[in-house]
Amino acid sequence: MIYLDNAGTTKMFEECAAVHKTFSCDAFFNPSALTNEAVEIERLIKRAEKNFLKELGVSDGNVLFTGCATESNNLAIKGAFRSGDWEYVFSAGEHPSVYNVAKKLELDGVKVYFVPLAKNGQVDLNELEKVLNKKTRLISVMHVSNETGAINDLEAVSKLKERLCPRAVLHVDGVQAFEKIPFSLRKTSVDLYSFSAHKIHGPKGVAGLYVKNKDSLKELFQGGGQQYGVRSGTENVSGIMQFAKAVELTDVEANLAHVQELKKRFVDSLKCEDGIVNADFGGSPYIQNLIFNGVKGETMLHALNKAGVIVGLGSACSAKKAGNRILENIGFSKDEVISSVRVSFNAYQTFEEVEKAGKIIVDVYRDIKERVA
Ligand code: PLP
Repeated sequence: MIYLDNAGTTKMFEECAAVHKTFSCDAFFNPSALTNEAVEIERLIKRAEKNFLKELGVSDGNVLFTGCATESNNLAIKGAFRSGDWEYVFSAGEHPSVYNVAKKLELDGVKVYFVPLAKNGQVDLNELEKVLNKKTRLISVMHVSNETGAINDLEAVSKLKERLCPRAVLHVDGVQAFEKIPFSLRKTSVDLYSFSAHKIHGPKGVAGLYVKNKDSLKELFQGGGQQYGVRSGTENVSGIMQFAKAVELTDVEANLAHVQELKKRFVDSLKCEDGIVNADFGGSPYIQNLIFNGVKGETMLHALNKAGVIVGLGSACSAKKAGNRILENIGFSKDEVISSVRVSFNAYQTFEEVEKAGKIIVDVYRDIKERVA
């Protein structure tokens, strides 16, 4: 099987399984307890938190550990929400875990703006500039699109925020950027940044939310007051340690160089075939969209699955729903959207593997076209 749905989830590093055993069967203590063993666990979590901050390129602020990036995104938006005459601004390209929170706010009568995407898949900065004002409470713009790989310019968004609504909170969903593309939040005005372990070969069930100022967030549920009182509940110690291990094992720059070449070889292996369109947004090399003229993406996905290649149809959370709101927003026709497939790589794949996948994709597409014709 050749797995090309790494934006959906990744295979966990074997090393994380060993960490899981250590912190579940041996050092299994509750970090909130008062014993020496528990205090040691608390110290290790604090050390992990510091390392995550370093990885994000910041020296202060905090990291809250959550159960998934869906929770991080919900906590960021709902935690920053304030009643009153405020406005909330979202890019139209957001993942459902942000977009559907925005839709719910809108339904509840809150003033919400969705800023359209430009042709390159990035949030349209001219349109963003038009809606920001002193009443803006929150801006939410993702870092790398899970659908197209387009990379938003966080420094440019930060400048707009500082000029037009300095009191607003800037939230960034960084799930497809963290440990994949090099960046630093230091030169930005980002207040909240979400990231998830299972997209970087860590375990499922643990994620993070960087919080510049923890007093800016209200807790979503009440409990024992863990994690600065903002995210109560016993910490997922094993998950946090495995997440930290996954980061430790990742070389962002080397991986990026490898995946750039992987993508190039993969695209080259498809070039011979008429009707396969490479929808390239010039963003993250980890994510690639293909349009198969005349064949539904879903048909391709199932046929490829049978032939031993796993691809995606966009966000795993919305893969079962027809259409692709993001590609439509960028201006693709309904036919193109329906014929699209998302391919996503990981840094541990070989050139041979993706070239082989390319050949299988061409064969499967030819075969379906012949049968349809
Ligand atoms: N945000 C983006 C951009 C994603 O790609 C995903 C997962 O597909 C999520 C959020 C949700 O992450 P999780 O599965 O950890 O809830």
